[in-house]
Amino acid sequence: MSGAEEQVVYQQLIFRLQELSPQGRQWNLEIPEGLFGDAGFGEVDAPASLCKGVQWKGNVIAQGDFFGLQGKWSTELVRHCVRCNSEFALYMEGDCSRHFQLGVEPDADDAVECDSVAPPGSVNLLDLLREELWLAWKPMVVCSEACKGLCQQCGGNLNRHECKCSQHGSDHPFAALKNIRFNS
Ligand SMILES: [Zn+2]
Ligand SMILES: [Zn+2]
Repeated sequence: MSGAEEQVVYQQLIFRLQELSPQGRQWNLEIPEGLFGDAGFGEVDAPASLCKGVQWKGNVIAQGDFFGLQGKWSTELVRHCVRCNSEFALYMEGDCSRHFQLGVEPDADDAVECDSVAPPGSVNLLDLLREELWLAWKPMVVCSEACKGLCQQCGGNLNRHECKCSQHGSDHPFAALKNIRFNS
């Protein structure tokens, strides 16, 4: 996707609450990974590298004094497993629910948590999406719950091949028993 095409997609992601029609606004877009990670667009930092674009759909509608935004997103990110250190694609998805109010300080007693935005109420759906990804971010991830990790002695990836180390090493479950027998 060229810079000009990214610019077109980006323009669809910015709107003003004050200019919202009574029907509200719906979107159902794929945000290209290049645009998502481009620091030249938006102000929120993009988390890590994506394997593919982000599916991002939702709607925003005026609800009395405030604006309610509901959305859904999903994507895949390139991550490193904390056990075996392999690179893998992590699927992530989330639901987004926000409320905005125009130019008023949120009431502390308000049951609904509101983001206050100065008129005309600019909303940037790219930055909002990045925030949602950060909220869902897990610092420690494994490629699979069954991941066996690396051998502590030879450093081999135990998912790919079995090494002989654990059969002789001191971390063998019966190594301690051997010492007890010698001491008694
Ligand atoms: Zn792993
Ligand atoms: Zn080993």
